[in-house]
Amino acid sequence: MRVIIVGNGVAGTTAARLIAEHGQGVEIVLCSDEPYLYYPRPRLIDLVGCQVNPEQMPQFPAEWYAQRGITLRLNCRVEAVYPEKRQVLFQNGDVMAYDRLVLATGAHAWVPPIPGANLAGVYTLRTLADGLALCQAAHQAKRAVVLGGGLLGLDTSSALLAHALEITVIEVMPRLLPRQLDAEGAAVLQARLEARGLRFIIGEGCAAIEGDGHVKQVVLQSGRILPAEMVIISAGVRSNIALAQAAGLACGRGVVVDDRMQTSAEGIYAVGDAAEFRGVTWGIIPAALAQARVAASQIIGEAEVRYEEIVPSTTLKVSGIDLTSIGEVNPQAPGYTEVRFSQNGVYKKAVLREGRLVGAILLGDRADVRAINQLIAKGVDVSPYAEDLFRPGFDLMALART
Ligand SMILES: Cc1cc2nc3c(=O)[nH]c(=O)nc-3n(C[C@H](O)[C@H](O)[C@H](O)COP(=O)(O)OP(=O)(O)OC[C@H]3O[C@@H](n4cnc5c(N)ncnc54)[C@H](O)[C@@H]3O)c2cc1C
Repeated sequence: MRVIIVGNGVAGTTAARLIAEHGQGVEIVLCSDEPYLYYPRPRLIDLVGCQVNPEQMPQFPAEWYAQRGITLRLNCRVEAVYPEKRQVLFQNGDVMAYDRLVLATGAHAWVPPIPGANLAGVYTLRTLADGLALCQAAHQAKRAVVLGGGLLGLDTSSALLAHALEITVIEVMPRLLPRQLDAEGAAVLQARLEARGLRFIIGEGCAAIEGDGHVKQVVLQSGRILPAEMVIISAGVRSNIALAQAAGLACGRGVVVDDRMQTSAEGIYAVGDAAEFRGVTWGIIPAALAQARVAASQIIGEAEVRYEEIVPSTTLKVSGIDLTSIGEVNPQAPGYTEVRFSQNGVYKKAVLREGRLVGAILLGDRADVRAINQLIAKGVDVSPYAEDLFRPGFDLMALART
């Protein structure tokens, strides 16, 4: 059996590894349109922050693939998929037949239709090539504007501080990380980031990026002008679905899959940022890993392994600021209880529904992350201890073990 995997990000590489480890007599072809061995994208933040150099980016050496019998085709875009013939067409004109196909094509940075977004000096951060371009530009610039105060925007901005730039983050929503934080937590985080040297303009959007061929300034909706030599747009991602769409597969925001990661075409699976399950494309690594495991299991014949929705958990990587946001942190419906703790730049919040934890914010203290994750996953009834959850000395881990 030949399995072709399109995309060597975390989802494609994990699927290849698991099929190679557990499948018998499976030929695996893993291809990417990028020229690089698999690198974890969070490491791009370290690259931009001058913590690692490009040679340190790959997760595995070239031998790792050969030792597992994985044929790697880099710089090799898949141009078309023909589901009826079970074939793919590569960029160089090669046609290859598959028995199973895994679409792990990931996502790309979304650039909103802002006038001037196509000027030189405007960047996004998704690939190693983007990271290298950003580093090079940051060496020469004095002022940068980052559009977007989400996780990636804040990680990127903080990393750019290593280049001694003056950095202003623009967030159109009324606070930072609106999906991961509440108002109180966002205020604590903003104060800590300002203390590190970042500047923020919150609740105002960018009207235009201006320059004569190259960025000179950002114009805000109020008319305020921010001079800048570089602009980084961090406005979210969109799944790479063009290949699947052209092949006639059912697509929404992502390639639609069932709980076996099976797309609408027999023998074709989709995983990671490219996949849409029950209307959701998560865009985070835990989902990509879980989905890759399911697709790999299905392909090697473990049909009973199905995908179950994960509880999303995200972490900010700004060194010295620990922030983890898990599950539902801003419930809008009635029937939820919230427990808060705030002291000396540490902010914690637990969200309970029917006595069970369904979400949490842990800012400035990572100690409880494991216990909280377990309490959420196990659905432990914590109502008798609700007021004690964040009391210093209270053993959350012991509660999680019950
Ligand atoms: C800077 C940064 C930091 C991040 N930090 C975190 C974090 O801390 N935690 C977290 O959970 N998530 C984080 N993410 C998101 C996370 O990286 C993604 O969820 C993850 O990379 C998704 O993996 P994937 O394999 O589905 O897709 P991708 O990593 O996007 O890989 C898809 C690959 O397929 C290739 N491809 C696409 N189309 C084709 C084609 N037609 N032919 C050949 N190849 C193709 C693409 O070029 C790409 O190499 C971060 C992302 C970035 C950019």
